[in-house]
Amino acid sequence: MLEVKNITVTYDGLSNAVDNVSFRIDQPSLVGILGPNGAGKSTMIKGILKLIPSQGETFYNNSPLKKVQKKIAYVEQKSAIDYTFPITVKECVSLGLYPSKKMFQKISTADWKQVDVALEKVRMLEYKNKQIGELSGGQFQRVLIARTLIQRADLIFLDEPFVGIDATSEKIIMNILYGFRNLGKTIMIVHHDLSKVEQYFDQLVIIDKRLIACGATKDVFTEENLIRAYGSSIIVKGSEKQCLPNL
Ligand code: ADP
Ligand code: MG
Repeated sequence: MLEVKNITVTYDGLSNAVDNVSFRIDQPSLVGILGPNGAGKSTMIKGILKLIPSQGETFYNNSPLKKVQKKIAYVEQKSAIDYTFPITVKECVSLGLYPSKKMFQKISTADWKQVDVALEKVRMLEYKNKQIGELSGGQFQRVLIARTLIQRADLIFLDEPFVGIDATSEKIIMNILYGFRNLGKTIMIVHHDLSKVEQYFDQLVIIDKRLIACGATKDVFTEENLIRAYGSSIIVKGSEKQCLPNL
């Protein structure tokens, strides 16, 4: 399904922010990407998607990612998104239509209906004419999920979608993502709340510049792998795992 081969990224030409990471995801899954701050999680996604120069290749159903771009959605880490951009909620969602449109092709009435349906699914329809700058973090994240809904992507990358959002929004988004997975899609989510990992993810990719582990959550969400990734600042209490902030 998804095959990542030898992805390496350097920013300064001297050291690797992501070092020769390879893994495979064989079946439609919700995949958590874990690792400490600065481990290269965001960089790895950008390297996989060739949004930044990287060595290595990635295949989705045996096709190079470049050939299946329309099937891929990516929501970058919130801190990188410009909230002040003057665009309404419905316009923001409609951007998801563009990969399947010809240049300058207008958005049809049927397309706007799809936008409404997607906004309804994330319970944001009543906000459709608001500016995105007026939304809370959780509401904005729901709008970005609505955008991936109408994009009809099969492979979805979300970078820390739950940071600073309310529990209701998180629940709404997770339910949509489970629905995606059940439709045969693969969703890769950078996530840092270790307490939810076992509940949320089928599989994990744990990195700290290099790959630490990849596999079914029950097999790789182990104290040993967490200590290898996060160091000994990890506290393990029974099955409940917590990460201490970096001091
Ligand atoms: P994570 O998402 O796991 O927190 P990042 O991928 O953001 O980690 O960063 C990995 C490393 O690369 C860090 O040391 C970070 O400082 C560095 N880095 C990230 N983005 C850039 C950039 N645009 N230019 C130079 N260095 C960067
Ligand atoms: Mg990041």
